Amino acid sequence: MPTEEKSQADQLRDALTRRQKHACEVLSEDEIAQADAFCEGYKAFLNACKTERECADRFIARAEALGFAAYEEGKLYAPGSKIYLDNRGKSAIFAVLGRQSLEKGLRLAAAHIDAPRLDLKPNPLYEDKNLALAKTHYYGGIKKYQWAAIPLALHGVVCKKDGTTVQITIGENPGEPRFCVTDLLPHLGRDQAERKLSEGVKGEELNIVIGSRPLMLGGKAEGLKLNVLKFLNDAYGIVEEDFVSAELEAVPAFEACDIGLDHGLIGAYGHDDRVCAYPCMEALFQCAAPEYTAVVALADKEEIGSVGNTGLNANFLYDFVTGLSLTQGVNPRKVLRNTKCLSADVNAGFDPTWPGVMDPLNAGYIGQGVVLTKYTGSRGKSGSSDASAEFLAWVRSALDGAGVLWQAGELGKVDEGGGGTVALYLAKLNLDVVDLGVPILSMHAPFELAAKTDVAMLRNACAAFFAAE
Ligand code: MN
Ligand code: MN
Repeated sequence: MPTEEKSQADQLRDALTRRQKHACEVLSEDEIAQADAFCEGYKAFLNACKTERECADRFIARAEALGFAAYEEGKLYAPGSKIYLDNRGKSAIFAVLGRQSLEKGLRLAAAHIDAPRLDLKPNPLYEDKNLALAKTHYYGGIKKYQWAAIPLALHGVVCKKDGTTVQITIGENPGEPRFCVTDLLPHLGRDQAERKLSEGVKGEELNIVIGSRPLMLGGKAEGLKLNVLKFLNDAYGIVEEDFVSAELEAVPAFEACDIGLDHGLIGAYGHDDRVCAYPCMEALFQCAAPEYTAVVALADKEEIGSVGNTGLNANFLYDFVTGLSLTQGVNPRKVLRNTKCLSADVNAGFDPTWPGVMDPLNAGYIGQGVVLTKYTGSRGKSGSSDASAEFLAWVRSALDGAGVLWQAGELGKVDEGGGGTVALYLAKLNLDVVDLGVPILSMHAPFELAAKTDVAMLRNACAAFFAAE
């Protein structure tokens, strides 16, 4: 009978094939409301933290409020102890000691808290044709034209020779001025329009308007740059040379907001990778006395290759694990060998406006949960970590066991381009690691999109990862 045949086929289909579902199909209305509520906290975090320093500060403050104490090398920690290591204010490690010996390995999640932006150069200030401007050097892989003609805020620190540090944030509060890179009017943009898109706005054209009025002294105009310096000196006590020992970042001045009539998405600056850092930390904060020591490492410098002493290619994570292990009388190499790690980073969500760059069978889709990415890289997985099948099987089991909605995806078509994460630097420590994160749209643009249910699902995924056998 045809109906019976169909039902047999359906049975086989159910048993043998995988149907990817939308979060709204698997979550109850209550669970969706909880995901939305979780994302209100995430949006507030995004609005308060637009630099790696601000993210590290905020997570450390929240951790301290929840009973975490600064890690002391040589101190013996009991199960349930909550500790953190502040690495130069730009990266940090948080841990909750488990009941099992460290020898059984850590449950480590790593995410990065730096994001693409425009950094002020060491000698930024000049004036030209009635404008005071600041030169920038972009940080991370950006489409430069996207950073012109949008409001920017300045965040960062100026370190003075006397040893003091001045914190600067201008352009986030109502009434405060903002800054802007100008673009050419289309009427006169004929030559610019003939440029390649990658050169639509060139690096040396990313100059920020920082002033437009001269300093007036005794009815005489004394210069626009001098006026900027006077403002800065009056407000912060700094002089021009102080820019040499400063880290000032121009970031988009807009706030996180809901996108779409159903409020399903969050549009914001810096989802990559705070959309993974926040859920990982919230999952850790819920860990009371885990079986295995749960750790979250928040890294800086991922966007420029995990370089520098605050990037994950540096030794700070290795040093922390080694110090902790030796004090507990445990071989750190054994700890790392048995460690399971999630490299929590975003992946590209399938964008129906730009379908040509994706393999639709192997892409992450918005609203279908966290994306498990076995390998990244480009030109034949070059620069990838390529997680082992054995570890992926364990991760699948852990996620399914906790009802976490997940999907398997790659970063675009094979020959289309590619990218990397911190996974290879973690793998170098001789642990098992795989990429797991939130699919996003418009990655590295000043305004990126992510689905609320995917954000909340990553929190559940991390919690499942910390708890799994
Ligand atoms: Mn990233
Ligand atoms: Mn990135």
